[in-house]
Amino acid sequence: MKTKVSLQQCNSYKQEEVSLAIKALLKPLGNMTSFVKKNDLVLIKPNMLSCKEPERAATTHPSVIEAVVKECFEAGASEVWVGDSPPAIFGRTEDFWNKTGFAKATEAAGGKMLCFEKDEKSNVSFKVFGQEVTTPVIKKVFDADVVISLSKMKTHNLTRITGAVKNNFGFIPGFAKALWHKKFTKVNEFSAFVSELAKALPVKLHIMDGIEAMDLQGPASGRVKKNNILIASESPVAVDMGFCKIVGLKPESVPIMKYCKSIGWGPASFEDVEFIGTELQKCLVKGYVVPPAPPVYLIPDFVLDFIRKMIWTGPNLKDNKCIKCGRCKNICPAKAIEIKEKGASFDRNKCISCFCCMEVCPVEAIEMKASPLMAIILKLRNVKQVLSRNKNE
Ligand code: SF4
Ligand code: SF4
Repeated sequence: MKTKVSLQQCNSYKQEEVSLAIKALLKPLGNMTSFVKKNDLVLIKPNMLSCKEPERAATTHPSVIEAVVKECFEAGASEVWVGDSPPAIFGRTEDFWNKTGFAKATEAAGGKMLCFEKDEKSNVSFKVFGQEVTTPVIKKVFDADVVISLSKMKTHNLTRITGAVKNNFGFIPGFAKALWHKKFTKVNEFSAFVSELAKALPVKLHIMDGIEAMDLQGPASGRVKKNNILIASESPVAVDMGFCKIVGLKPESVPIMKYCKSIGWGPASFEDVEFIGTELQKCLVKGYVVPPAPPVYLIPDFVLDFIRKMIWTGPNLKDNKCIKCGRCKNICPAKAIEIKEKGASFDRNKCISCFCCMEVCPVEAIEMKASPLMAIILKLRNVKQVLSRNKNE
């Protein structure tokens, strides 16, 4: 049976338009009442990655949060909590809530912000490539009657896209996330971890905000790209499949999608998805640029060991932007950063290319850099992608 993915075009973040669009988005899935029942306690997890204004497109837009919280109450929810736990939030919770507009939107709709770092934790266990792992997550994800994910349509330098599946990574509180980056250093391992985590959590509904998406150097410092789309499904893999379809990306080129297919979780291809709502053809966008996959995950380990020194991507400091705040150093799971006179300095031999530093930098002083050989590979892959896209159009 095909998995339903609802698509809804929406051209602005005006509250009225977004509220109508969210209603229309959920209608083909049976409305919010299919998910939220009378007196339910609802937990909503948007993407609150950075302490940035909504128009920077690094975070789920507050108008989407407000619309979804209202829908939950209209469906009969007794309480609605909204929260997330980005790596750099410690000590700055209120700043994040205010700058992203989350606090105002949640309050306007009658919900409450939840501080994931202060809330009780619970453990969740699952297997990653046969290895049993246990990670803390916030306890409310299990206590709530309904959990809803509100991801943002963005690119990611490590995993190529950060969508509905990866949004669940934020249920792990703060710095604990960096430890998993350290344990699962390769993109295929990390993608497996994130996918297994998402599979283990009881999230009922996944909505993606792609009205103003982010491409190029996502997830924190990319370009704002208007894609005018909202996507929803009961399956996070299906939402990400919709993301791929809309921006013209092959799912098998996304490590998370590749892993999900390998374990038979979610739709394996576009053919396994039934797009409903706004006609698919009207939703397709051009010019959304996804960073090429670090091709290392395609290469066997024994070959990789020889060429690791020649093909790499890693963080690089932009000229005169670093304010030496030290956040990147604190978050780095590989202890690869020193703060020197001119700012952050990266030890290429220790770096595991997780790009956590890029995510937490408050002034976008870090960019992705590729080795000369990697740059050539990436260029060739880009040309190939453009050519095949043009051929398909
Ligand atoms: S330097 Fe940045 S990309 Fe490298 S391991 Fe540290 S946080 Fe990750
Ligand atoms: S690179 Fe960014 S996060 Fe790191 S010290 Fe400089 S300003 Fe702070």
